[in-house]
Amino acid sequence: MHKNFKGIEKTVFGRGSFDQLGDILEEKRDLNDGFMLFVVDQYFHNKPLASRIPSKSGDVVKFIDVDVHEPTTEQIDLLRDEILEQKGLPSAVIGIGGGSIMDIAKAVSLMFTNEGSSTLYQGLNLVKKPGIYHVGVPTISGTGAEVSMTAVLTGPEKKLGLKCEWTVFNQVVYDPNLIATVPRNWWFYTGMDTYIHCIESENGILNNAYSHAFAEQSLKLCREIFIGEKSGQTPENDDKLMVASMMGGLSLTYSEVGVCHALSYGLSKILGMRHCYANCIAFNHLEDYYPDGVKEFKEMIRKHSIDLPQGLSKEWTDAQITAMATVSYNLPHMWNHAIGTDWKEKVTIKDIEALFRRL
Ligand code: NAD
Ligand code: ZN
Repeated sequence: MHKNFKGIEKTVFGRGSFDQLGDILEEKRDLNDGFMLFVVDQYFHNKPLASRIPSKSGDVVKFIDVDVHEPTTEQIDLLRDEILEQKGLPSAVIGIGGGSIMDIAKAVSLMFTNEGSSTLYQGLNLVKKPGIYHVGVPTISGTGAEVSMTAVLTGPEKKLGLKCEWTVFNQVVYDPNLIATVPRNWWFYTGMDTYIHCIESENGILNNAYSHAFAEQSLKLCREIFIGEKSGQTPENDDKLMVASMMGGLSLTYSEVGVCHALSYGLSKILGMRHCYANCIAFNHLEDYYPDGVKEFKEMIRKHSIDLPQGLSKEWTDAQITAMATVSYNLPHMWNHAIGTDWKEKVTIKDIEALFRRL
């Protein structure tokens, strides 16, 4: 069976396109109980962007601090219950922020129409009904969360996405001006998520002409942004990074991620390490699997003097390392793609533990 994926319905791209958001929302204002819910990264509170949010009287604008923890099932359930109780069913939910806010907007859109806790829907195609109209406005680029069909949530038992066709945004507004203020380290770590998506998507059995075309273009853009003569945080590169993130996301959607993401999930689940940072920590030591990619990655680290710690595993207990290796091992789709269908004959939990000990 070949994958059959739904894409975003409408996309606007360009510097300043954020100012079109009001017009885009206007035709949706009569839906449901006639108010909009904006979920916005706390970073923008009291910043100029906050005063440009096209909210009207009756709308709800929620600023959310994404640095406390990654989005949780409890947080989504509470937000949904609070809004339904106080105001009813919104016409739309608009997420303005990074991967965390994208996931919150996608998840809450689904949970407005699906009963019970979001923990019931963590997995593939468990969601019963379409959510409400939802719009993504990314303000940091790399995860591809703006195009993916999953909303990753951490629950009491698992970190797993609400994954189905209805998760995909109805509309995305790509305004590269919005990513100009991203701090340099985050620009790098989150940007590297897309670079790693492409390297992993390309190096595995599920790679195909379709995923390859997206990865090839995204990698070309990443090289211009992070290595080329004109590399760095410039308006031109911000345009490119937004597109690279989207294409990297599409590449992995039609292929798969690999060893780095398998390790990264272990680091996030057991140590609470943030996704993009964890990827960088792991990828730095995966030259056996991705020799050219890791070599180029190291060049980019040097070029931008990025602080990437090593020797972290000295501080980890054997139990933690085994727990991380077990989380990784239990992502068979990633190992299958990266190593091949006989991966279980080639990779054991002990081998994965040895990879964690390199970090
Ligand atoms: P993020 O949303 O966690 O934000 C990272 C930091 O950047 C935060 O401090 C935030 O306040 C700040 N920030 C965001 N925009 C800014 C701006 N314009 N200026 C200044 N600061 C800004 O970052 P992320 O790396 O994009 O997202 C990580 C999350 O994405 C994780 O929770 C991960 O699980 C999730 N994720 C989801 C998918 C998916 O397909 N759904 C894929 C990969 C990762
Ligand atoms: Zn990723």
